[in-house]
Amino acid sequence: MHEGQIVLDQQMLGEIHSHASVAYPEECCGLMIGRLEGSTKMVNSLKKMKNAYEPSERYHRYTIDPMEYLNAENEAESLGEEIVGIYHSHPNAPAKPSLFDKSHAWPTLSYVVVEVRQGKPVNTASWVLKEDRSEFTQEGMQVVAVTSGNKSMKQISK
Ligand SMILES: [Zn+2]
Repeated sequence: MHEGQIVLDQQMLGEIHSHASVAYPEECCGLMIGRLEGSTKMVNSLKKMKNAYEPSERYHRYTIDPMEYLNAENEAESLGEEIVGIYHSHPNAPAKPSLFDKSHAWPTLSYVVVEVRQGKPVNTASWVLKEDRSEFTQEGMQVVAVTSGNKSMKQISK
């Protein structure tokens, strides 16, 4: 089976990392908006979201307010785009989805997880839930340089 990948630029990855640092020691979360090209998700913009989970549990949980999610979805659709994934951070935990994440994920989206240690992002990986919801599989993440002229691609994980 062909596995997908997610493509974003260095500036977006930097924004995700700084959001993760600022939110530390709580989890941050946000939406990745763009479009699908086959099994590739092209991210065109990010939307930071509030971690709406109970404050005392935000160090290992996040949730996005359903109304805010719906508003962001409608906004994306009005631009001919869609929500292709969700990013969030794991303070003092590995860059892979937790059991909690698994029970709250949709198989259609990519989940980018940032491991944060002492306020610094140290590891970032993207995951997709299998259709049968049995497990997450890691997908490729390509970070595109935002230099003028020809875009160079750098594979940072697979
Ligand atoms: Zn998580």
